[in-house]
Amino acid sequence: MIQTYDTTLRDGQQREGVSLTVEDKVYLATRLDVLGVDFIEGGYPASNHRDRLFFEQACSLDLRHATLVAFGTTLHKNADAEHDESLALLTACPAPIVALVGKAWTLQVAQVLETTCAENLRMVSSSIAFLKRAGKRVFFDAEHFFDGYREDAAYALEVLLVAAQAGAETLVLCDTNGGMLPHEVYAATTAAVAALEQAKLSQVRIGIHAHNDSGCGVANSLEAVRAGATQVQGTICGYGERVGNADLLTCIADLQLKLGYDLIGPERLKLLTPTAHAVAETFNIAFDAHLPYVGTSAFSHKGGLHASAALREHGAYEHIDPHSVGNFSHIVVSELAGKAALRAKAGDFELPLPEEGATLQALLDTVKNKEDKGYSYEVADASLELLLRDQMGEQVSYFGLESFRVIAERRADGIQSSEATIKLRVGGERHIATAEGNGPVNALDAALREAITRFYPQVKSFELSDYKVRVLDESSGTDAVIRTLIETSDGKTSWKTIGVSENVIEASWDALVDAITYGLLKSGCDGEPRERRTECA
Ligand SMILES: [Zn+2]
Repeated sequence: MIQTYDTTLRDGQQREGVSLTVEDKVYLATRLDVLGVDFIEGGYPASNHRDRLFFEQACSLDLRHATLVAFGTTLHKNADAEHDESLALLTACPAPIVALVGKAWTLQVAQVLETTCAENLRMVSSSIAFLKRAGKRVFFDAEHFFDGYREDAAYALEVLLVAAQAGAETLVLCDTNGGMLPHEVYAATTAAVAALEQAKLSQVRIGIHAHNDSGCGVANSLEAVRAGATQVQGTICGYGERVGNADLLTCIADLQLKLGYDLIGPERLKLLTPTAHAVAETFNIAFDAHLPYVGTSAFSHKGGLHASAALREHGAYEHIDPHSVGNFSHIVVSELAGKAALRAKAGDFELPLPEEGATLQALLDTVKNKEDKGYSYEVADASLELLLRDQMGEQVSYFGLESFRVIAERRADGIQSSEATIKLRVGGERHIATAEGNGPVNALDAALREAITRFYPQVKSFELSDYKVRVLDESSGTDAVIRTLIETSDGKTSWKTIGVSENVIEASWDALVDAITYGLLKSGCDGEPRERRTECA
């Protein structure tokens, strides 16, 4: 039985730029419990008040599966466990398990602790014995174990045995610097397992705590399991200091789907993808679409032939069934895509496309034509849906533009301002609106909203969440073509639209109109209101 140990709330939040509140941590603990991890390392109570508060609140959570773990360090050199402040905080913490970190590398003992190898063994042993007397379960984190094993294998193993004899139920081999390679992890883990057996301590578990500095965090964890480790530690999406920790989600999927271990069961495996999104959102990090298993692009297919084959048979071009981890196959419509991909995409939009024939070919030609001009529908599904609807005679129109004008001003004192005036027709009437903004596109967006909000009040909930401009490469002799991508959110979902023109304002306007039109379409709005002031609910 392989145990899963999540350290997103301690090691994961070491990632640069991340700061979690107590509420964030409590929320994530509930998500991790629902996912079915065995242990949740909640923080370091001796190091900060916030982590102490977390444990106070978390122990009243009704966790169904997971057990909370508090992280802490061994007592100080030449100190006595009964008078060690940090050990006292650990015993006071309501978490039933302590992950106690201690040195396993002679270099660290000499240079960081500035003590002897014998004193380090005493520190490990008496800290664990003290915590056991206080009724705690203890996992011992052997810091820098693999570096220590490389330098002085006998001492690194002796530290493990001393910890086990003092009462640690799990010995966690930590690749603290993250630089190990899989074969080294395999060899050292094998030695640790053998040393426990020889000492008649084989009931003590070996765990693996890997970082990803050599790009091998997950691979190292798998090798440790192959060598006999039965607890895998990691963080959701591999978040952590430097390049991060072993990604626990990838470890779980690999172990369960590829190596045949049952970690969280097939049903909860489907929570991998939603859990990854929830953690990214709470960490306030843009979700990495290219993460293994859970990334939005993890099962996306671009080539025409390839996409049609993937649709027919998952196994042909997908290493696993994406539904097993809660993800989906995703057909990317691109200039390479064939009819099958386009039909699949239309299926996503619930638009029935003809099976074959002239109409389907015409639609494909239109998409290809636009892509030749610089549109890239693979990143702008909402614009693609509007284009397909338009081509199939299902077009929706909410307003008609008469004209717009944008003024950008920069004064000698450096102050910049932009103003847009827009003239359009809604419900058979002409409307003029003017608005200012911190740039021309912002002003244009504000003026458009100003003109139509009273007809379509839901526009107020649409927020432009991302705006990207890219100059496309052009062969010499022609003007550069500008592509703009806009992401809009209504707080529940988001959609992406695209515009292409030689003029950045024009390209932005295209993307903006698609953004508003798509949002109104999805909110169930039928089209232009017939009468002025008819509000579309
Ligand atoms: Zn770590």
